[in-house]
Amino acid sequence: MSVTIPTHCLRCGVCCYSESAEYVWIRGDDWSRLGDDADRLAHFIGHRAFMRMENGHCAALDVRTTTDGAKEFFCTIYERRPEICRDLGRGSPECEAELETKAGKVG
Ligand code: SF4
Ligand code: SF4
Repeated sequence: MSVTIPTHCLRCGVCCYSESAEYVWIRGDDWSRLGDDADRLAHFIGHRAFMRMENGHCAALDVRTTTDGAKEFFCTIYERRPEICRDLGRGSPECEAELETKAGKVG
């Protein structure tokens, strides 16, 4: 692959985007960690739980504009984010695949 890995996830956010409602699946401990925000940010589809998706991205993502005019992709629950998000490290093969698959389609 020949994708360029962003220097910071805040300036990328690609892996928080999907058209699928069943994209960010969460487990029981992920749900518990969300605390009072669980019902607002996550829901069940059938017997499995997922983060809610809004406007093509995870409902926990806040797309901001910084003072220098750049877009910033901020996870509002970063310390409590699901395990699947923790496992997807910047620069990992999964990250590269996300960048390659969704190039130009998100943000
Ligand atoms: S892990 Fe990769 S795809 Fe996800 S925000 Fe960071 S650089 Fe972008
Ligand atoms: S929980 Fe945070 S890191 Fe995970 S998909 Fe949602 S916004 Fe992105």
